[in-house]
This record gives sequence, structure tokens and C-alpha cells, in this order.
Amino acid sequence: MDLQNVRVRFAPSPTGPLHIGGVRTALYNYLFAKKHKGTFILRIEDTDQTRFVEKAEEYIQEAFDWAGITPDESPWNPGKFGPYRQSERKPMYRQYADIMLNNGTAYLAFDTSEELTAVRERAKAAKMPNWQYNHITRNSMQNSLTLSEDAVTEKIEAGIPYVIRVKIPRNEEVRFEDEIRGWVTVNTSNLDDKVLFKSDGMPTYHLANIVDDHLMQITHVIRGEEWLPSAPLHVLLYRYLGWESTMPKLAHLPLILRPDGNGKLSKRDGDRLGFPVFPLNWMDDATGEESSGYRERGYFPGAFNNMLAFLGWNPGTNEEIFKLPELIQAFSLERVGKSGAKFDAPKALWYQQQYLRSTSNEELAKLVTPIAQDMKLDFESNSLISICGLMKERATFLKDILEEGSYFFTHEFSYDEKTVKKKWKEHTPLLLSDLKSEFEQMEEFSTDAIETTFSEFLTKNEIGFGQIGPALRLAISGKGMGPSLFEICNLLGQKQTITRINKALETIKI
Ligand code: GLU
Repeated sequence: MDLQNVRVRFAPSPTGPLHIGGVRTALYNYLFAKKHKGTFILRIEDTDQTRFVEKAEEYIQEAFDWAGITPDESPWNPGKFGPYRQSERKPMYRQYADIMLNNGTAYLAFDTSEELTAVRERAKAAKMPNWQYNHITRNSMQNSLTLSEDAVTEKIEAGIPYVIRVKIPRNEEVRFEDEIRGWVTVNTSNLDDKVLFKSDGMPTYHLANIVDDHLMQITHVIRGEEWLPSAPLHVLLYRYLGWESTMPKLAHLPLILRPDGNGKLSKRDGDRLGFPVFPLNWMDDATGEESSGYRERGYFPGAFNNMLAFLGWNPGTNEEIFKLPELIQAFSLERVGKSGAKFDAPKALWYQQQYLRSTSNEELAKLVTPIAQDMKLDFESNSLISICGLMKERATFLKDILEEGSYFFTHEFSYDEKTVKKKWKEHTPLLLSDLKSEFEQMEEFSTDAIETTFSEFLTKNEIGFGQIGPALRLAISGKGMGPSLFEICNLLGQKQTITRINKALETIKI
């Protein structure tokens, strides 16, 4: 598909921390825009002042910075279609509601919230729990369709609050083609007369969203499946505003499902199963509750993006590792699935492991340095590079390198009790002491030389690796498992290896 002037937007409502489902939507928009050399826009949909959360916008910005999916136009980097916050666009919306009032596709409604509640209650009592303001019920409500023109003017002049509702026709088919789902047909009898403009002078999501997508020249609306039920109304709004010919294409992404069961992945699933559902940590100021994020868990942004991209999309090959530029190359809406994508926590860890392993030792050392400094560890930059090289195959996160390889940073460590019990036998001290003597006589303490000395030692004593290897590991690292023994010895150096063996011989008692 060769598309021109692609303009897509991610349009979050700042009501709390951005869920990873939202980040995936943003990522797909970003990939689609970059693939077609288009523009990725961030628009803040803050028309609902009651649900506004102060820190949410900052959180979105920080999350995008971390993930590296930078919008081309946004509130903090405006282009020529601004402002990019709907609250700042407030004066722009009423004129569009007026177009619809004038062409008869919208009307004023004066019903108070008490009246609406009363109607709903009455309907419930009559066993009709899903009362809607629609083509039937509007005929018995207080609106400009039922009241006389004079009565309406009188109410307006008296300053009685009103909302503007869309007038949904009875029994019409609305059809549109979704880029992911194909043709969707909905009968208007199933739609209600949604409020477009509120009595506080603010548009609702539906009106503001359509007006802004139009004014910002959005070509593709790529958003979560939860907005699919709103799409028929949006199609009607484009029609009623006379914008049908430039209506953006619609693409509704599949939900991200919880790993067990079929529900939508929620914050509670994350808490319950112990994985983050947010990109960054989030502190709920109201409850004091803290939720963990991928960044703080130690995920690399590349691994996070790669994992997210594969929740709902696949490249059609067996390849799984795609850095951001490769994702841009490979991405297409055609390869986004229709059915929900189950979140897979072990897979997230697998991606992180792969990214860590493919990072050079030098780069890892650079990344690990501030963490090591925070932990007040004692280290030399050069040996840190080698330690990273040695430990990365056994690590998932940067901190694992330091924790698993803690014995490189301190001479004070305890000996793993299980290994002592299983591997430290009566004859061990004598063997280890002999091995130490061999080590002491070595002139060059390279990994190869250590390995040769060790093998010769086994042959000479007619023993297998198991009779001395684990004991040596215990002596020099305190652990029962780890990377190559000879490389550890080499990194520690001859003197330190011997000191550690001596200390183990003095300390470990059976
Ligand atoms: N403000 C809506 C949200 O919070 C945007 C939906 C859309 O993309 O149209 O998800």
C-alpha cells in the first residue's frame, strides 16, 4: 500500500496512568505513520473535567520518551494544527454543533439529570433496565423536538441549561469498512441520541473527536476495539457535518487479554500475577497505591516495544526480534489480528533476555555502572566489561548481572549451604589445597592456562570434574552454579583466587 500524507493520532484522555494497551495503540499509530513517511500526532482529550488527573499528561510524555515513540505534533511540540489539548480548543466546537442544529441532525434537550434519573428508574421498575434517549423516547422528553419554538426560546432566554443531542434516525443501516475487521453494519435503531455538547459549554468526546480528526486532517483512526461501538455514530457525525468524503479510515485493534481467561487485561491481573501493566511506575495520589512499570522493573525500551508490537500483530514469518526501525519496515494493518491477544508474561521476560544478550559488553557495562554506583559496589571499569560478558547469558535484567555476579564486587560472601552439604566431602580440603598449589605455581593465569592446569590436575588425581569443580566454585564464588569457572578465576586474578581458596579451607567445616 503506497499512502500519501498519512496523519494518525493517539488521543488519550488524561484520567490516570497509560495502560500498556494504550501504549500499544500509540506504538501501532507510530509504526504506521513512520512506515508511510507520515505524521504521528498526540492529542490530549481532556473534555471531561471531572475525570481529569493532573499528572497523567506528564506520565504519557515520559512514557513516550522512554519508549522512543516520539510524536511529531503534540502539546509540547505543536505543529500547525494546534492547540493539541481539547480543553484549549474549547471555543472551536460549538459552531459544529450549530451546523447540526441548523440542518436538523441535532436538537436541544432540557431534561435535568433528576428527570433523566426518574425516567430510568421508572423504566427499570417496568422491567426495561436499558432505557435510552432515542428515536422513540425523545418524543416524551423536554427537548426542541417536543416543545414549541416559543417555549424553547423562553427557556434559552431564562438561562435554563441544556445539552445538544444528535438526532439518530430510526431504522437506517450504517455501513463502514474497518481496516482490520472488514465491513461492519449497524442499524441505527440500536443507537441512542448521544449528547454532543454539554451544558457546561464543553463538547463531549464524540463531537470533539470528530471535529478534531477532521481539522487535524487525520487520515487513519487506529484505536482500541472498545471504541468500535462508537464508530457508527462517528460515521453519522461525519455525514451530518458534510465531511463524509474526507472521513478517515477506521482500524479497531484487538484487545489485550489477561493471560488466564478471556477478560481484558486489567491492573488487577498485573497485581495478581506479578507483572506490570503500565510502562512506568505510577503513584495514585488519592489512595497512595503504587503500581509498577516496565521501566522501573528494568526492561529495555526495545524489548518492551518488541513485546507490545507482537500482541496483536505478527510479521508473517517466524522471526521475533524486531528493533524499532525493523518494526517500522515490517508493520502493516493487514497483519493485525481480529481476535484478542493474550498477554504472555514469560514472553515479556524472554524478550528482555534476548535484548540483554544481544547488547555489547561495553554497552552493558555503561548501563550497569550507575546501578553499581547506587549499590556502592567496588569495581573497575575494565573488569566490569568482562563481568557483563560473563554474566549476561544468565541474566534477564541489568541488576541480575550485579546480583548473580555479586562475588566479583566483594570478598565477603557466604557459602551456599546446599552445595556445601552436597559437594564438600571429607577429601575435598586436601584436593582443593593441592589444586591451589598448582595454581600458585602458574606463571600465566589466563583462562586457557587455568583450564589446562585444572584438566591436568583431574588426570593426575584420576578424578572427574564433579569431585573438585563444584568445591572450587563454592570457594571462589560461594555459589553452586554460575558461568565458566576458569573465566571467573581469570577475572578474579591469581592472587584473589588463591586467597579465596585459603579462606574457604579455613571456613567451611563439615
Ligand atoms: N479519548 C479516547 C480514549 O481515551 C480516544 C478514542 C479514540 O481514539 O477515538 O481512548
